[in-house]
Amino acid sequence: MSNESLANLLKEERRFAPPAELAAAANVTAEAYEQAKADRLGFWAEQARRLAWATEPTETLDWSNPPFAKWFADGKLNVAYNCVDRHVEAGNGDRVAIHFEGEPGDSRAITYAELKDEVGRAANALTELGVQKGDRVAVYLPMIPEAVVAMLACARIGAAHSVVFGGFSADAIAARIKDADAKVVITSDGGYRRGKPSALKPAVDEAVSRVDGVRHVLVVQRTKQDVAWTEGRDVWWHEITRKQSAEHTPEAFDAEHPLFILYTSGTTGKPKGILHTSGGYLTQAAYTHHAVFDLKPETDVYWCTADIGWVTGHSYITYGPLANGATQVMYEGTPDTPHQGRFWEIIQKYEVSILYTAPTAIRTFMKWGDDIPAKFDLSSLRVLGSVGEPINPEAWIWYRKNIGGDRCPIVDTWWQTETGAMMISPLPGVTETKPGSAQRALPGISATVVDDEANEVPDGGGGYLVLTEPWPSMLRTIWGDDQRFIDTYWSRFEGKYFAGDGAKKDEDGDIWLLGRVDDVMLVSGHNISTTEVESALVSHPAVAEAAVVGAADETTGQAIVAFVILRGTANAEDEGLVADLRNHVGATLGPIAKPKRVLPVAELPKTRSGKIMRRLLRDVAENRELGDVTTLTDSSVMDLIQTKLPAAPSED
Ligand code: ATP
Ligand code: MG
Repeated sequence: MSNESLANLLKEERRFAPPAELAAAANVTAEAYEQAKADRLGFWAEQARRLAWATEPTETLDWSNPPFAKWFADGKLNVAYNCVDRHVEAGNGDRVAIHFEGEPGDSRAITYAELKDEVGRAANALTELGVQKGDRVAVYLPMIPEAVVAMLACARIGAAHSVVFGGFSADAIAARIKDADAKVVITSDGGYRRGKPSALKPAVDEAVSRVDGVRHVLVVQRTKQDVAWTEGRDVWWHEITRKQSAEHTPEAFDAEHPLFILYTSGTTGKPKGILHTSGGYLTQAAYTHHAVFDLKPETDVYWCTADIGWVTGHSYITYGPLANGATQVMYEGTPDTPHQGRFWEIIQKYEVSILYTAPTAIRTFMKWGDDIPAKFDLSSLRVLGSVGEPINPEAWIWYRKNIGGDRCPIVDTWWQTETGAMMISPLPGVTETKPGSAQRALPGISATVVDDEANEVPDGGGGYLVLTEPWPSMLRTIWGDDQRFIDTYWSRFEGKYFAGDGAKKDEDGDIWLLGRVDDVMLVSGHNISTTEVESALVSHPAVAEAAVVGAADETTGQAIVAFVILRGTANAEDEGLVADLRNHVGATLGPIAKPKRVLPVAELPKTRSGKIMRRLLRDVAENRELGDVTTLTDSSVMDLIQTKLPAAPSED
C-alpha cells in the first residue's frame, strides 16, 4: 500500500433493524458496550465468571511485558470440565451435545453425559499411551465426533493439541508434527468425502516416517477400509478406549496453560503456529458464542459448517458451544453430496436455528441457484453468521433472503486464528445491520483503522485495521518463535496489534473489512481494495463470485484484472457480458476502479479453508511462474485459468 490511504468507493444504503422479538429477549443488549467501555477489565472479569474455576482468578490482565499477555493468571481451571462435566452436574446430562450427521447418511446423537464418558475414556487412553501434561498431540481427523472428543481429552490432561486439517498432505502433517514436537498422532482409517471413503492414515504413516519422536498413532475406525499397521506404534481408538474407565478426575491447570497450537491457513505464506492458552481463550470463545449468536442452550440447535481443522472449528464447534452447553449439529461431508441441497436438508431435519458458515459457501449456493434452498423448510432458522472473508453485500442479501427468509439477522464476524475468537461483529438483538459490514468491535474489544503513520482515520476514511488493547483470547506467541510473533503483529504500529487486513470506517464509524493489505491494488496512485471491486462485480446479476488482482501495468502502475464465476443462468460466451461487467464496476465505484480485463472462469484458486488465493492469480496475470501452491485445494484450477488468459482480449 502506498502512503495514500485506502480508497472508500462502495456506498451501501440498505439497513436491517434487529427483529423486535429477538431484541426483546436478547442475551446481550446495548448496555454491554457501555459497561465494557466504562470498565473493560471489569467487564472481562465478569465474563470469566461464566466459567467454572477451580481457583477463581483475582488478577484480570498482566500486560507488564507487552506483547506477551497473561489473562486471569492466578486462576486455575480445567477446560474439558467446563465444556462437559459441569453441564452434567447441572442436571443437563440428557441434553444432546452433538447431532452427528455422516456424509453417507448415518447419524448419531451424543448427549452431554455420553460425551463426558467418552472424553473420560479417551483421557485415560492418552494417559496409558504416555501422554502427559505439557506434551503435544497432533490430531488429523475427519469431521466426526471423535475429533471433538480427542481435543477435549487433550485439554483434560493438559496436553496441547495441534489439529491438522484432514485435507492436508503428508508434508504439511510432517512439518506440523515436527514444529510442535508431537508425541502422539490421532487419526482415522479415513472419512467420507464426495460419496466415497477417502483414506487418512496413509498420509500420517508417511509423515511419521519422516520425523522423529512420534511414539503412537491412535486410529479411529470410521470407514473400515484396510490400513497398513505398525505393531507397537499403532493403536485402535475403539480397542484402547473400550478398556478404560469412563471416570477421569480433571486436574485444574493455570489459566495460562497452553490449550492448543493451530497453524494459520496459509493464505499469505508459511503457516504460523499460533499458541492459545486456557482461561482467557475459553472466556472469550464462550462469551462471544453466547452474545453474537444469542444462544439459548435449552432451545437452540446450532450448526457451524467449518472444519475442526480451522480456528472456527476450534472456537465455534468445540470450545464456545460446548462451554455454553449448546446442542449442535456436526456434519462430516461436502455440501453437494449426494445433492446440492444437503445443507438445507440437514437444517430441516434437525430444525437448526443458528447457522454459521462462510462467504465462499454462500457464493457457491448462489451459483447453484435459488431453487435449491427453496425446496426445504428453513423456518427454524433465527440467526445467521458469516466468517472467513469479507462478505459481498449481494451475497449477504442473498443469504438473508434465500436462507434467512428475510427475517433472520446476519452477523458478519471478523476475527483470525490469532485473535482466537470473534472481535468485530454485529449483535443480533442490538445492531441495525448493513450488508457487507462487520460494523463494530464487540464489547470489551478495541479496534480501529489507522493510516500509514498510525493516526486513526476519520469516519469515511480507509487504512489498516488494528487492535489497540489486549483481549482475553489473543494469541500468546508463535510457537517457538517469539521474535516472529513480535515482528509479524506488533512491529508495524507501536503498541498496536496489526491484523494484516485493510478496512475503512463509514460515516457512522462502522468498520468495513477490505481484504488483506498485501492484496491492495495501486492504480494511478490510488489504493483500491480487492473487496470493493469484487463486491461491485458480485452485485451484477450474472456474477456469483469474483477475485480481482492488481497486475503490473506500464501506464497506471497496476491494472485491475478480474476473474469471475458466473451464475448458473449467465452465458460465458456472451461477448457483451465482459464489457457490461467492466462498465457496471465503473458505474458502481467510479472509473478508477473499472477493471482492465474481466475473465470468466469456472473455478477460482482457493485455500483448503475456502479463501481465494489472489497471489496466485497475480502470478497468472503477470505471466509469472506460480508461487507456492501447496495450500491450494485443487491445483488443476490454475492450469485451467492459465489457458484462458492469452485468449482474452485486453481492453482499453
Ligand atoms: P494466513 O494468516 O496464514 O495467511 P489466514 O489469514 O487465511 O492465513 P485465518 O486466521 O483463518 O488464516 O483467517 C483470518 C483472516 O480471514 C482475516 O485476517 C481476514 O483477512 C479474513 N476474515 C475472516 N473473517 C472475516 C470477515 N468477517 N470479514 C472480512 N475478512 C475476514
Ligand atoms: Mg492471517
